[in-house]
Amino acid sequence: MKIPMVDLKSQYLEIKDEINEGISRVIENTSFINGPDVKEFAGELADYLKVKHVIPCANGTDALQVAMMALNLQQGDEVITTGFTFIATVEVIALLKLTPVLVDVDPDTFNIDPDEIEKAVTSKTKAIVPVHLFGQCADMDKIMEIAEKHNLYVIEDTAQAIGADFTDKNGNIRKAGTIGHIGCTSFFPSKNLGCYGDGGAIFTNDDKLNEKIRSIVNHGMKVRYYHDMIGVNSRLDTFQAVVLRAKLKHLDKYNNVRRYAADYYDKAFKNCERLITPERLHKSTHTFHQYTLKTIDVDRKKLQEHLNNRGIASAIYYPVPMHKQKAFQEFNCAGKSYPVTEELCKTVISLPVNSELNDDILKYITDAVIGFIR
Ligand SMILES: *Cc1c(COP(=O)(O)O)cnc(C)c1O
Repeated sequence: MKIPMVDLKSQYLEIKDEINEGISRVIENTSFINGPDVKEFAGELADYLKVKHVIPCANGTDALQVAMMALNLQQGDEVITTGFTFIATVEVIALLKLTPVLVDVDPDTFNIDPDEIEKAVTSKTKAIVPVHLFGQCADMDKIMEIAEKHNLYVIEDTAQAIGADFTDKNGNIRKAGTIGHIGCTSFFPSKNLGCYGDGGAIFTNDDKLNEKIRSIVNHGMKVRYYHDMIGVNSRLDTFQAVVLRAKLKHLDKYNNVRRYAADYYDKAFKNCERLITPERLHKSTHTFHQYTLKTIDVDRKKLQEHLNNRGIASAIYYPVPMHKQKAFQEFNCAGKSYPVTEELCKTVISLPVNSELNDDILKYITDAVIGFIR
């Protein structure tokens, strides 16, 4: 048996006709750039998310960069986020000559710890970037409260949590990425809603930000060849929009299969004292972009070898926290300690979760893990 982290081929075979037909149509129409499917997809995603504006762009990293460009931040302004994430979140802050201020995460949810945010706010703080890591929302009630109190922007990095529902303190249910001022996502092939190349999108309910973001992704222009500000070229391919339109219809089903796999894992590992299954919040549904265990006194390398010998993929997200990356050694965070993040980097392991797992495969995986742990 070969069990990969993601299984894009089986997923493709289920929607093959629709995708092939759509891609042929784009070629026939030569509507490669900004073809009708891009606009259609943006509208369909906005309906799905119940958000006013969806601006497609070239990838999730661009989405974050453009979101920050839209906020008129000045060199040296501080942006608070976590170091337990994919580098893109922190990279764009540095790229724009803003100052990344990293804070520690909650040991159970892996998400940014609101108490740590509050402690890190200074007069230079302008924005908070919560990352809804592994598919579950950060504590957006507390984060929005802190943001309001200190007049800060909130940019949600929802690259891993598209489709997650957050229930706020008033009982309103909203989709991840539509709660803060701007939401950013990625359609990288392995994400829960992935295309067949690079892709991303930015969401907002704010009309002014929408206008600005649309202009920035298009070379800072509203009227062709009249450039009002410095922008970038960041577009979603029409081909990718075709793929995403086909897959968006199945996103809830895909996420449900992921949750099914996670439930199976939870049950199987319930009595393993050396494995801690991921915490589930009442406030947020979990889309399980990753199913990530914390291990206690487990030789992770040997566990990975054991699984690999049985054809089972596994991964470490993330092995090195951002403050220990060479790229960030110039920054303040490099000299600080983040005990929770550091401990997680040493102990977590992620098992395959994808929309194609069934009981037989899940039993094979869990038996293999338990066989090693015991
Ligand atoms: C994937 C990812 C991104 C970046 O998306 P790309 O499309 O690869 O640029 C940003 N943040 C997080 C948390 C991610 O997982």
